[in-house]
Amino acid sequence: MPRSLQIIEEARSSGRTYLLEPEAKTVCAEYGIPVPRFMEAHSREDAIRSAEKLGFPVVLKVVSPQVIHKSDAGGVAVGLKNSTELEGAYSRVLENVKKSSPKAKIVGVLVEEMAPPSIEIIVGAAKRPKFGPVIMLGLGGVFAEVLKDVSFRVAPIVRADALEMVTELKAYPLLKGYRNQPPGDIESLLEVLMKVSSLVVEHRDIEGIDLNPVLIYEKGVKAVDARIALEPPQPK
Ligand code: ADP
Ligand code: MG
Repeated sequence: MPRSLQIIEEARSSGRTYLLEPEAKTVCAEYGIPVPRFMEAHSREDAIRSAEKLGFPVVLKVVSPQVIHKSDAGGVAVGLKNSTELEGAYSRVLENVKKSSPKAKIVGVLVEEMAPPSIEIIVGAAKRPKFGPVIMLGLGGVFAEVLKDVSFRVAPIVRADALEMVTELKAYPLLKGYRNQPPGDIESLLEVLMKVSSLVVEHRDIEGIDLNPVLIYEKGVKAVDARIALEPPQPK
């Protein structure tokens, strides 16, 4: 059985409708969506060992079924340069989350390779009545939220659809390169859009996917956050 099906079944049998971030990233990786190298840790020592294996700088994030928006809960620390910083962040992240979501069960932490900063893109999928799964693309930050600069296509999409989605964004010139902003790897972004489409089309019980953000570079892209929501359980 593919790992993605196994992960979805496990989540279902423990009554969850969200995959944990490490699970969502494993599913993404199976579909060829680039994600940072990561390890899940269950103690401070474990987190340090993981970071030493991955190499500093790292990012630390809380893993909890109840914490969907991790930074809102103080559950993310980026740019940790050494084990002293990591230890400090470990205590801080756990304390923040215990304070902001006292009922949350903390499963562990995600220790992850720190991706260099770049333009942040949002790629998503959501089910819409009548249309089925719809693929969404936008730029991160103010672009999607304030300027509503987003494009949608009904899944499944082919390369030509993905290319239209990218070129119809008002922010497209930014992606193509602007002043001292080097051109982004549009081809890799198209791949991510098509792979997200395959993922929702092949797993009918996925209700939504949220890759926010996907960082775009001159060469390659990286989904540094991945959220996958499952359909609510069907009444028997
Ligand atoms: P949230 O659940 O709050 O959306 P994210 O996983 O998106 O949490 O992390 C919050 C922010 O931290 C991201 O928007 C991104 O800017 C930054 N970030 C997260 N993971 C990484 C990473 N591996 N490398 C670099 N930056 C990251
Ligand atoms: Mg995010």
